[in-house]
Amino acid sequence: MGVFLRIIVSGAAGFIGSHFCDRMLAEGHTVVGLDNFLTGAAQNLAHLSGEPRFCLIEQDITEPFSIDGAVDAVVNMASPASPKDYLDYPIETLAVGSAGTGRMLDLAREKRARFLLTSTSECYGDPEVHPQVESYWGHVNPVGPRSCYDESKRFAEALTMAYQRKHGVATNIARIFNTFGPRMKLDDGRVVPAFLSQALAGAPITVFGSGSQTRSFCYVSDLVDGLYRLMLSKERYPVNLGNPREMTILEFAEHIKQLTGSQSSTEFRPLPEDDPKQRCPDIGKARAALGWEPRVTLEDGLRLTVDYFRSQAAVGMRS
Ligand code: UDP
Repeated sequence: MGVFLRIIVSGAAGFIGSHFCDRMLAEGHTVVGLDNFLTGAAQNLAHLSGEPRFCLIEQDITEPFSIDGAVDAVVNMASPASPKDYLDYPIETLAVGSAGTGRMLDLAREKRARFLLTSTSECYGDPEVHPQVESYWGHVNPVGPRSCYDESKRFAEALTMAYQRKHGVATNIARIFNTFGPRMKLDDGRVVPAFLSQALAGAPITVFGSGSQTRSFCYVSDLVDGLYRLMLSKERYPVNLGNPREMTILEFAEHIKQLTGSQSSTEFRPLPEDDPKQRCPDIGKARAALGWEPRVTLEDGLRLTVDYFRSQAAVGMRS
């Protein structure tokens, strides 16, 4: 677009946050990253230490803070996001979605900046509409173990819409579906790092439940491209971003075994409470409004992720 922006990104040291910062810098923008490192890692941004258009501030966005100078865009990505992380930090998760999102919206309002919220497919809960369209209001257990994440993000969406309606802030909301790639934490409990590290170690693949539940996996560079397009758009209502190629978790385990050439056995474990039975984005809106769709195949994305996990394992062995 030829205009360089100054962008504030909360959750910059997270898996998706760090890739988003990289892409913004590659586009010529300037980025101020905020993170309290609860679940993010400064290591994800270590390669940017000599980059003059980037700085990283240690900041819990639920606490007061201010940013000097002009700001063009505020991107609110801070939140624990893996089920293991948000079950470990349920109160922090609710706080960052509510108070944290409020402070980021206040910043956007004060600076007359645009605002992007990264929300989640968890807003649909255990969905009864399939694939999930943005107009579906969801099927969420408000008091179950996942409620800390689901309701935090649903509140964040409502607050974002309120700032848009009441204060005229130019907002966008992305509903992110399962995303994977380098910089996921090997031990964050999510299915991609869990299965990959088990397959690489020759350990049993832990399938929860019967493995008949479905998910759809989007490679992180595709997701970040969708976020960027959305941030530049005038689409004020939520937009699904994810890969519509759906598979059962058992099928996914087979993909991982084939790709890694692993001889791992499959071990069945109890299904976590409220684990959604099916999840697949309808991306018709993203296609029409943003001209976006994923381009990286599951196989290519998994190969890139395996390379990263192998390199991390090598670093671990050296240290
Ligand atoms: N899962 C699994 N084994 C694992 C980790 C996850 O079978 O070791 C399943 C989990 O029950 C869910 C799916 O994989 O049905 C995706 O889980 P993940 O934690 O990645 O994210 P979710 O989509 O549930 O937010």
